[in-house]
Amino acid sequence: MIRDAARALLVGALALGFYVIAELRRDVIAAVVGNDAAPTAGPRFPTAEGAGLPPARAVRVVLVDGAGLDTSRAMPAWDALCARGLDLGLDAGFPTVSLPVQLALWSGRTQQQTGVLFHSGKVVSPPLGAAGIPAQVPGSIAIAESHSYIVHSLGFADTRPPLAKQVPEGWPGRWVDEATAAVAGPARLVFVHVLRLDTVGHRQGKASAAWPTTAAEADAILARLIAAGPADARWFVLSDHDHLAGGGHGSEHRAIRVVRACLAGPGVRTGGGGPIHVTDLARAIADSVGATLPADSPARPLEAAIAAPVDDDDVLPRLPTDRVIAAWLLVLAAAVATAWAARRRGPWWRTALALPWWWPVAIGSLVLLAGAPSLSTPMIYKPRGLDLVQGFAPGLAVLAVALTLAAQTGWRRAVVAQLALPVAGTLAVLIVTGGVSILWGGAPCPVVPLWTGWLSPLLLMASAASGVAALVLLASAVLAASGPSAPPGTRRSERAAP
Ligand SMILES: [Zn+2]
Repeated sequence: MIRDAARALLVGALALGFYVIAELRRDVIAAVVGNDAAPTAGPRFPTAEGAGLPPARAVRVVLVDGAGLDTSRAMPAWDALCARGLDLGLDAGFPTVSLPVQLALWSGRTQQQTGVLFHSGKVVSPPLGAAGIPAQVPGSIAIAESHSYIVHSLGFADTRPPLAKQVPEGWPGRWVDEATAAVAGPARLVFVHVLRLDTVGHRQGKASAAWPTTAAEADAILARLIAAGPADARWFVLSDHDHLAGGGHGSEHRAIRVVRACLAGPGVRTGGGGPIHVTDLARAIADSVGATLPADSPARPLEAAIAAPVDDDDVLPRLPTDRVIAAWLLVLAAAVATAWAARRRGPWWRTALALPWWWPVAIGSLVLLAGAPSLSTPMIYKPRGLDLVQGFAPGLAVLAVALTLAAQTGWRRAVVAQLALPVAGTLAVLIVTGGVSILWGGAPCPVVPLWTGWLSPLLLMASAASGVAALVLLASAVLAASGPSAPPGTRRSERAAP
């Protein structure tokens, strides 16, 4: 039926693109959440004069996973502890993923320095060793409510529960008792990781009815721990990130990244300030237990950190210049190809109409209907990405119309005009995230602020656009071959005026 072999070849190539790009998207998602990055040099934070904390006999650290600023302010036990000590903003760094943030907290190195940027659901191997704080404190104890791979990555002498995918039987009913006993005991360093709020955040969102009740439960656990602690204990109560209203975290956004850390006990003054960086808090814990941080840690003594708060520019990693230049060159080349392919004779608007408007429409409708994608939005991680497709579908309709109008005449140029820039733009984003080596079987960790969040939707758009283009070309070829044909000279446009 298809007489034109070139067109058949193009239909086949586009259909293949549909599958190959969708597969690439799944590989990219797996690389984002699974791979580690090459460690890079640490940032330089603003400097100021100021002392560190003096050592303390008993240090107690409680991390309420997923509790943002507003949630912590609605937790009375947490609030009361802040009122009798230092009430600080805490910048968790990027990305706002629990394991990487905790590695920064217990090593004094940023996420970019450790290279552990996401590392979802599996223990770091080997765990933080002698360079970390916990391994420098004999008899240190860590107790986690769940997700034991996190505490098992930190190098504590005694870590509970044992490392396993599921928490052991009976653990939910006894872990608070074990944590309370540890906090009350003689160990110099005890860490308690409370996770129920984060779990509810992922399942039901921060805007759910379960959120405040779960925050109240977490606060009651905190109150019990504080009451059980030795009189001379120095407390650190903090979080690692906030949640979106619909649930989710990981992105660079300040609202997710800046949380609360409160310090109280002997040797700690009252007051407020910040945000200090999570590595500054590592320094405060290290000073309290007599541990030293690695020489390349950017952490500052506590009072110096409070005197010189960190900002986005200090904390967020910058994109490497070579990647940015390569991405722009690619986009520029595609823009030239698009301009050539879209050029039409006659009035300017005929050329303007041939440009790939479907792409901005797809991007705009996605943001409007599904929200701006980021590392915090669960939709970017879904293997099929139906939420994304529903968001950008209006753009696909525009693409189908544009290609249908052009298919009978200049279909080759129409396909270039519609697809060159979107495909090159998507590839450019893959380049700036550092993920391009996935194309030839590499194992990079393409996690950077902003752009990584767009990678998954852009790839899915490119895949869907290939599929739509294949279908439109196929349909128009079938119509051309089977439709009623008119002998030359009888079409209305070709007939002479009466
Ligand atoms: Zn989480």
